[in-house]
Amino acid sequence: MKRIVLFLTVLLLTFALVGCTSGADGGDGDAKTVGIAMPTKSSERWVDDGNNMVEQLEELGYKTDLQYAEDVVENQVSQIENMITKGVDVIVIASIDGEALTDVLDKAKNQDIPVISYDRLIMNSDHVSYYATFDNFKVGELQGQYIEEQLGLADGEGPFNIELFAGSPDDNNAYFFWDGAMSILQPYIDNGQLVVQSGQTDFKQGATLRWDGAKAQERMDNLLSAHYSNENIDVVYSPFDGISRGVISSLKAVGYGSGDTPMPIVTGQDAELASIKSIIAGEQTQTVFKDTRKLAESAVNMIESVLNDEEPEVNDTETYDNGVKVVPSNLLDPISIDAENYQEILVDSEYYSEDELN
Ligand code: BGC
Repeated sequence: MKRIVLFLTVLLLTFALVGCTSGADGGDGDAKTVGIAMPTKSSERWVDDGNNMVEQLEELGYKTDLQYAEDVVENQVSQIENMITKGVDVIVIASIDGEALTDVLDKAKNQDIPVISYDRLIMNSDHVSYYATFDNFKVGELQGQYIEEQLGLADGEGPFNIELFAGSPDDNNAYFFWDGAMSILQPYIDNGQLVVQSGQTDFKQGATLRWDGAKAQERMDNLLSAHYSNENIDVVYSPFDGISRGVISSLKAVGYGSGDTPMPIVTGQDAELASIKSIIAGEQTQTVFKDTRKLAESAVNMIESVLNDEEPEVNDTETYDNGVKVVPSNLLDPISIDAENYQEILVDSEYYSEDELN
């Protein structure tokens, strides 16, 4: 009997201690809830982001309310409204349209529910506590540098034909990727080593609403038929794997990647499974890996800090001005991936298993 009492006492003490150290419920059994608003399941990175956050938060004893809005802005707004009505304790948002959340964030502010911007900056609101993201300018630089190195541009090689794609104009990140890439490529366009046969060299002309691969495919079809009947294309600058795969479908349809017409260099971003397979198959050339496990960790750290009135780790307090305030940010490092290093970076770190890639 004594042994059972002792056992139960130890068990109770253990639970009490776990409760205290988790930070999620202050030991009173009433776990805090984190609302997580994600843009879409159509791109696998956001599925990973959501799952990683839920997993890490649940381990710490939080409840979660994870929602996907399938790229429909109104859905995302009403999902966030619901979270506010239910009285969640903090909301993490990867926005669809960064400009469309000002009113709903005012409601969160009135209810004292802190908001953390996840990967994409929420614009025009003072009610954004922190921003967890990657060095978005560097993502673009890595893509640009890859093209520069593969073509030997710094050694004066060329001219090469290139076409340029940009991301969604309602996503602040899209401008950072473009600016980063153009910081490398623009001088070569200016001196003629890179030639854009279509003449479409502005962000607006290359923009792809909602990062939609089908729209990119359609634009690529048009570019190829209008400008490449007598010319071959050597490079496509693409900021995102979904766009890259759309572009590649278009290229394959007119014979690139077969016979004596090689696939052009095609960049990308997110190291999506389908794109790593495409890289292994010799179609897509490059992507940029952004470890969603680390991003989730960075956001979870911010969540715990705002709930406990502490300062989270941030490493940039200058770059991300959302029009109302500069949002303190934690920027993680992106990594360029191609056929040479995917094994080391993605498989050895268990981001993907060998089985998944076969
Ligand atoms: C993210 C990228 C992603 C893109 C499309 C951007 O905001 O930073 O990782 O490729 O959205 O989903």
